[in-house]
Amino acid sequence: MTQPVEKLTKILLLEVEKYQDRAVFGGLARYADTWSQETEDFFIPEAADWIKEVTARLHAYSSLADSAARQHAVATLLDMLKHAPPTREEEGTTSPPAPAPAEARSTPPSPAHPPRTRQHVGLDSPVTVLQGVGPRQATRLARMDIQTIRDMLYLFPRRHDDYSQLKPINQLEYGEEVTIITQVWDAGTRKTRGGGSLFKATLSDGSGFIEATWFNQPYLVDRIKPGQQIVISGKVDEYLGRLCFSSPEWELLEKELLHTARLVPVYPLTAGVRAKWLRRLMKRTVDYWSKRLPDHLPASVRQQAGLVDLETAIVQVHFPDSQSSLKQARYRLAFDELFLLQIGLLRQRHMWRSEPSRPLPVDDATLDDFVGSLPFELTSAQQRSLRQIVADLRSDQPMNRLLQGDVGSGKTVVAAAAMALTATAGAQAAVMAPTSILAEQHYNTLSRLFESWPGRPPHIRLLTGSVAGEEREEIYAGLAQGSIDIIVGTHALIQEGVQFKELALAVIDEQHRFGVRQRAALRQKGYNPHLLVMTATPIPRSLELTVWGHLDVSLIDEMPPGRQPIATRLILPTERERAYSFLRSQVEKGHQAFVICPLVEESDKVEAKAAVEEYQRLQKHVFPKLELGLLHGRMKAEEKERTMARFVQGDLDILVSTSVVEVGIDVPNATAMLIEGADRFGLAQLHQFRGRVGRGEHRSYCLLVSGSSSPEAQERLKAVEATNDGFALAQVDLDMRGPGDFLGTRQAGLPDLKLASMTDLRTIEAAREAARRFFQTDPELIDPDSRLLARRLEQFWEEKGEIS
Ligand code: ADP
Ligand code: MG
Repeated sequence: MTQPVEKLTKILLLEVEKYQDRAVFGGLARYADTWSQETEDFFIPEAADWIKEVTARLHAYSSLADSAARQHAVATLLDMLKHAPPTREEEGTTSPPAPAPAEARSTPPSPAHPPRTRQHVGLDSPVTVLQGVGPRQATRLARMDIQTIRDMLYLFPRRHDDYSQLKPINQLEYGEEVTIITQVWDAGTRKTRGGGSLFKATLSDGSGFIEATWFNQPYLVDRIKPGQQIVISGKVDEYLGRLCFSSPEWELLEKELLHTARLVPVYPLTAGVRAKWLRRLMKRTVDYWSKRLPDHLPASVRQQAGLVDLETAIVQVHFPDSQSSLKQARYRLAFDELFLLQIGLLRQRHMWRSEPSRPLPVDDATLDDFVGSLPFELTSAQQRSLRQIVADLRSDQPMNRLLQGDVGSGKTVVAAAAMALTATAGAQAAVMAPTSILAEQHYNTLSRLFESWPGRPPHIRLLTGSVAGEEREEIYAGLAQGSIDIIVGTHALIQEGVQFKELALAVIDEQHRFGVRQRAALRQKGYNPHLLVMTATPIPRSLELTVWGHLDVSLIDEMPPGRQPIATRLILPTERERAYSFLRSQVEKGHQAFVICPLVEESDKVEAKAAVEEYQRLQKHVFPKLELGLLHGRMKAEEKERTMARFVQGDLDILVSTSVVEVGIDVPNATAMLIEGADRFGLAQLHQFRGRVGRGEHRSYCLLVSGSSSPEAQERLKAVEATNDGFALAQVDLDMRGPGDFLGTRQAGLPDLKLASMTDLRTIEAAREAARRFFQTDPELIDPDSRLLARRLEQFWEEKGEIS
């Protein structure tokens, strides 16, 4: 027996939006009597008045003239159905209702929910407690990362098919996606010539006839029978000049509509999990368990941000009533993720700051001395950043600051000033760079910068993997005793043997090249030292608020004066010869050049092979008289370093390299770069490459060769040609490729976001604001109202460890 309440609710929902009285054939007035008959013996006797009223309202509906009146009537009826009296069955039993709609065949007739052993079943129970999920299906679901009931609720549809548009048969048009509610007039199977079977049903809703066919589903004979009311959703097709449906979605009208006549969720699937099966399982799970999912967002947060509650959001994100409720649901859930992310970041920051660090007695005279000794004047962006850093050093809360500036904007000098102040205050500073070459470069730059400083020059040393034996021992001792003021190095700095007397400032260069652990390891070498991370990757604001949301940011958004923009040209593959002669002419003038090989996604190995071949070709056939070097990801670190060093010293004229060429390396004599397969790189990355030239006073050039002639690729590369503004390019890049690719590597330490987008600045800002407001009132999350939030936060951030 079908549930009359559910059935009528469904029909009424089909009326919503259009109110044309087409939800059932013949109109609601005619349906009223059928319905009241169906309710006989279903409800308790006291329900008679309620049934009478519903019937009367249904009778009246068809004669209501305008859609406003009909809208009101439908709303009233739906409300009445929501408050339906108990059924006889319910009266006789105390167990909660919610039996699954009996599924033909696929599920046994026993009640599907609640699960078998109710006391021990909760949201974190394995999916096998759900009716119809055995160990085999559980393994399959596990492939989609679904272990528990909660995971099920959070498996969001990839999209929804919109089958909500309901039409009578005589108004169907070719190609549209629609739903019809119709009666089966005739149905039968026949063999096809190929040996398959064809099931054909003739359908009519009173307005006209249409045929629907399904291939190789002979069992439909037992499911779709003449006289039945069914719902068909799909694309209107055409065969021999007549409209028809080919393999549409279908359902019996008495059942709750899941696959038709609505916004139908489409889930990601994996082998052995059928769409209809999963959808049915999901519906039952959502129906029963969404009510039992406590809302972790405090009501105040929800209210201020205008969010629907969690139950509504989960129900609507799976089985939405309308596009707008789907949108609201998605917003709420995306907001959730970003809110949890922000609270996590705030907590991290709060934790760092709750332990004091030693304030450094930094005096203005020392600062002025250092700045005055520089061979140039700091740009105002550098001065501003330096002021912010100095204020941090003076405070007793540890600095956590990101120093961000385009390649060549002069970050190193700013960091050097901070280190000079630290050394003068009697404490130690460390700089960690991702490679020895970069470390060495920093070492040389710093040594030079301190040469003309009138103060006591700090004792600076270099510690890389190749420093060994006595020298290493000596450096270890110097660091432990405090005779070394500034140490520059690589990962060698975070080896176990390294101990500082008092590490007060840790500087990390190109921080995205280091993992979370390594950054934390350096910090742990001191007692809550100040931390300054430098990056040349221009970070769009949305990422600054998420990935780096726990750091303060100093931005150097201005180039030192006199810097020439790098002349960039997009050239055709046919112009390559001319590009080569251009490189030759640069070398003849005493300069050096880079050739960057295309990115090969398949593997390092293939990429390396391609690079070797390109190198050999160029050396043999194109530049036989010049000295070429090769750099690729499969070379040993020392080999790479050696080649790089030869290039830096000017022993090589042209360096052929894959994308491994170091960010941040300074070769002032290099003036030209040719990038092959430029279309395969991100714009921000191209900009980084380009920053390898133009480091000196000579005019510099970048030539981009694209392997693709697609207008879109050309368009993107034109942007690189047109601007030297790394930020503008980063934003274009982020919009086009998403944050994963943008960052190059998956950013360690952050939870996965399912619905939220790292580029959705508006939601990010709203969530951040809400998190900040909430955090001000209850930073430790100890308020009873925050209990659920605290737990959810743990799940969300689980095993992500420390972030930095
Ligand atoms: P970044 O590390 O941000 O890429 P660097 O700190 O290496 O940039 O600076 C690039 C070059 O510009 C260096 O040679 C540096 O000496 C020089 N430089 C830095 N600041 C200024 C300035 N204010 N005026 C002139 N030259 C500067
Ligand atoms: Mg640098």
